[in-house]
Amino acid sequence: MLRAAQERRPRQWARELPPVDLLSRDASAAIHVMEHSGYSHEVQPGRTSQFLRAYREFLRRPGGRLALTASECPSCPGCRYDDVAVVRDALEHITGELPAPVRTELRRLLEGLDAEFRRRTLHDPDPSHWVDRSGSPYPWWHRRRYVGR
Ligand SMILES: [Zn+2]
Repeated sequence: MLRAAQERRPRQWARELPPVDLLSRDASAAIHVMEHSGYSHEVQPGRTSQFLRAYREFLRRPGGRLALTASECPSCPGCRYDDVAVVRDALEHITGELPAPVRTELRRLLEGLDAEFRRRTLHDPDPSHWVDRSGSPYPWWHRRRYVGR
């Protein structure tokens, strides 16, 4: 794991940045430190907030059941996050990079959102959609009904 992200008390600059979603000041600061460390091309400063916002926006859509929408070009960094399951992948990845107390706090936040996601989406009954091309199973949030399949 990253040394910067393991710092117990993130530096002052990180504590002065706006909080990430509903996370505590300490957790938000640890996320800012991680995002600014440059460890990943995908997780640039502000991305965790954006991913959480995208997840919330999906869940805030009106109507009862929601179907996921696959991205038109899943390998393109600009479009891949059109698929909310890919947004959830990114949040899972970020969670794994955080120091333990912050990881727990983000995981707890995600549990609430995931419960709503499970409630509003339907299980995809077609097992051929449960694995990727190499046969590795997708996380559960990919094994939900998509528009048009
Ligand atoms: Zn694209």
